[in-house]
Parts: sequence; structure tokens; C-alpha cells
Amino acid sequence: MTQPSDKALVPFVSVDHMMRLVHRIGLDPMLKGLASYIEDDFRRWERFDKTPRIASHSDVGVIELMPTSDGEAYGFKYVNGHPRNTAAGLQTVTAFGLLADVATGYPVLLSEMTLLTALRTAATSAMVARHLAPKGAHTMAMIGNGAQSEFQSLAMRAICGIAAVRLYDSDPAATAKCATNLAGQGLRITRCTSAEEAIEGAQIITTCTADKRAATILGDNMIGPGVHINAIGGDCPGKTELAPGILTRATVFVEYPPQTRVEGELQQMPADFPITELWQVITGQAPGRTSTDQITLFDSVGFAIEDFSALRYIRDRIAGTDLYQPLDLLADPDDPRDLFGMLARAAPV
Ligand code: NAD
Repeated sequence: MTQPSDKALVPFVSVDHMMRLVHRIGLDPMLKGLASYIEDDFRRWERFDKTPRIASHSDVGVIELMPTSDGEAYGFKYVNGHPRNTAAGLQTVTAFGLLADVATGYPVLLSEMTLLTALRTAATSAMVARHLAPKGAHTMAMIGNGAQSEFQSLAMRAICGIAAVRLYDSDPAATAKCATNLAGQGLRITRCTSAEEAIEGAQIITTCTADKRAATILGDNMIGPGVHINAIGGDCPGKTELAPGILTRATVFVEYPPQTRVEGELQQMPADFPITELWQVITGQAPGRTSTDQITLFDSVGFAIEDFSALRYIRDRIAGTDLYQPLDLLADPDDPRDLFGMLARAAPV
């Protein structure tokens, strides 16, 4: 049997490769590297082809495709969100993604993106908090202690210098898991028994719960002046975490308005509710935090450009390593127009 030619082999990064890559690079340098790739792509925001992600909803969850292109490369992520999955031993969020060369349309990378989503979401949160959180922020409340929570906490330490994290989850087993995983990682960890207790003394409040409903993880009267809220879990129609009163008192920062207005905390507000686009803060075209009393809110839903940046980062890091497998994904007939003739390679002798 003829082997596929090298130019038709697509590097595939499996979950095992991704885990080994994290250890080889180191978690902190990797979070910082991802944050820097994401920030670079936010700086050239206008170059990208942008569309809200394409979502297929069911009663129990959502499956989404997230495409974008900068004109040279094209990327997409397949991702699901199924809050009830954990009860069946499955994850709420799993993902994989692909990067392709616009010039030929040929894929140049296929990668697991479940770990990579947790890493890029954490890197994005911390990059945004570096722009918006109050100066000298040292303590974060981490509400929702599931799959994303350790990544969120460690990125805030690596990129924003957070020294203490106050954990709360409605399931104490999740808090215990998170506290155990974060032990010895240079963070002072406090386990809390309510969201109210978790936010005491915190300058950054991260909500990262999974429940397919309009929840009130943070009530209006819980939020005082001067904090930065990093709202991660409200990312789907009918799935929110904050009381609308918080949004009316906060300055709301978003990734891509047409997507966030439908999926984020913003879905609770009128269609013309004022927002600031993060790329404009990063490029200096719009103000970020303007006063110590201001409540800044990152209404995070996760946007395709962050995944594109993460895939670019992985493509650059695996070059010259053994941390991928060449995948026979593309047909490579000897004569490009003789696809049929290629079948003969596998004909029984
Ligand atoms: P997960 O299911 O592993 O963890 C969610 C945790 O929230 C669970 O431990 C659960 O017990 C807890 N929880 C549920 N309701 C709660 C409540 N009322 N109070 C306190 N805790 C509560 O999910 P995950 O993978 O960590 O993801 C968390 C959320 O973040 C999901 O909603 C997911 O869709 C979202 N997410 C957003 C982005 C983004 O870019 N914005 C990226 C990834 C995941």
C-alpha cells in the first residue's frame, strides 16, 4: 500500500500530547504565552472575519461551532456545554479544533481543545483582569469549583499576581477537589460555604457555574464598589449568573457584541444597553477602568478569536517536537484530479 505523502499529513495533538505539552512548557509560561497570543489577536481585531458562533440547542445543552479567519489562517472549534453531564461522569464542556491555511484550504493542525479551552478561557480572564481589575488586587472569589476553576485561579496568579483565592461551590465535593488541586501552588486557599462568604475581601469575583437556567449566583446587594467581576458561566441563551441590577451599576466589557448580547449576562438587558468592546480597551481606543469605585464586569462568553489564538500558539509550540501525530486526514491522489484512481492503493491484492 502506498503511504500518504508528507504534505497531506495533518499534525494531530491528542489529549495525551496536550498534557505532555503543558508539562514541557510549564503551566505558568503556557498561560502567559496564550494570554499574549490572545492579546495580540485582540489588537488586530479588525483584520478578522467574525460571526457569532453557530449553536444547536437541546433541552440539556448546546453544541457549537466557532469559526474565524485573519485572512491567512482559518480556525474553528467544536464545543459542547451540557451542565448535567457531570452527574453521568461526563464533562460539561469538551472540544476539539482545527487550523487551516487560507491559501490552499488545507488543514495544518487538528487538536484536542478541552484542556486548551480551559487554558485559553483562563488566560483570557486574566489578560482582561490585568486591564480592568483594581490596582493591587490580591484576592479572588472563585464561585463554581468545577473543571475550569483551577485554571482560572492559576492564571489570575500567574498574570495578575493574585495571592489568595476564596472558593465556593454549591457542591462541597467540588470545592474540596479544587482546594486539593490548588494546594502547594502558591495561593492562599479558603474554602467558603456561601457565595456571600467567598466574596468577602475579594477585589476580583469570578463566577464559573454550570446550570442551564437564569441563576442568581451574585445578587445586586452583594456587590460593592470597586470590584472586577469575571462572569464566565453565563454563556448561552437562558443561562445567566448575575442579577440584572449589577449590570446597571457596572461598566460592561465584552468580546464580540452580537454574540454576547444573545448569550451573555447582557441577554437580560435591552438590545441597546451600553457596552465597551475589549479590543478597543486593549488598543487604547476606549477607556478601561476609570475610577477606584467603578464596578468592571467582563461578560465572558468565549469568542472564536481566542480559540484561533490558542490554536496558533499550539501550532507554533509543537513544531520540531514529538508532541503530535501525523494524521492521514486528507486524500492525496498522485494526480489531483484522479481521486478515483487513488482507490487502487487500497484494493485487495
Ligand atoms: P463544571 O460542570 O465542571 O463545573 C461547574 C460547577 O458549578 C460545578 O461544580 C457545580 O456544582 C457548580 N454550580 C452549579 N450551580 C451552582 C450554584 N448555584 N452555586 C455555586 N456553584 C454552582 O463546568 P466547567 O467546565 O467548570 O464550566 C463552568 C461554566 O463555564 C459552564 O457554564 C461553561 O459553559 C462555562 N464556560 C465558559 C467559557 C467562556 O469562555 N466564557 C469557557 C468554558 C466554560
